[in-house]
Amino acid sequence: MAEQAQVVILGGGFAGMGAAVKLKHAPVKITLIDQNDYHTFQPLLYQLATAEMEFD
Ligand SMILES: Cc1cc2nc3c(=O)[nH]c(=O)nc-3n(C[C@H](O)[C@H](O)[C@H](O)COP(=O)(O)OP(=O)(O)OC[C@H]3O[C@@H](n4cnc5c(N)ncnc54)[C@H](O)[C@@H]3O)c2cc1C
Repeated sequence: MAEQAQVVILGGGFAGMGAAVKLKHAPVKITLIDQNDYHTFQPLLYQLATAEMEFD
């Protein structure tokens, strides 16, 4: 049996996460590497900090 291909995604931002989601049904092993163990969308931080977001 052929060995499964390994895909290494560098960066867990939108591009990296999007690539991982697109490949979720592909017959490959996926490794996502990021320098942090959390995801930050910086543009939202100031909106949270200044309470500009509306919550239901
Ligand atoms: C102020 C501001 C406002 C924005 N507003 C909007 C908006 O309203 N709507 C919108 O659609 N877009 C907006 N954007 C753009 C959006 O944030 C980017 O287009 C998007 O985040 C790019 O995604 P990316 O995955 O390419 O990069 P990033 O989201 O930057 O992800 C890169 C990832 O790589 C990791 N990384 C970096 N270097 C290394 C390393 N050496 N080793 C391991 N990991 C590493 C980082 O930790 C990060 O998780 C805004 C951007 C800014 C700066």
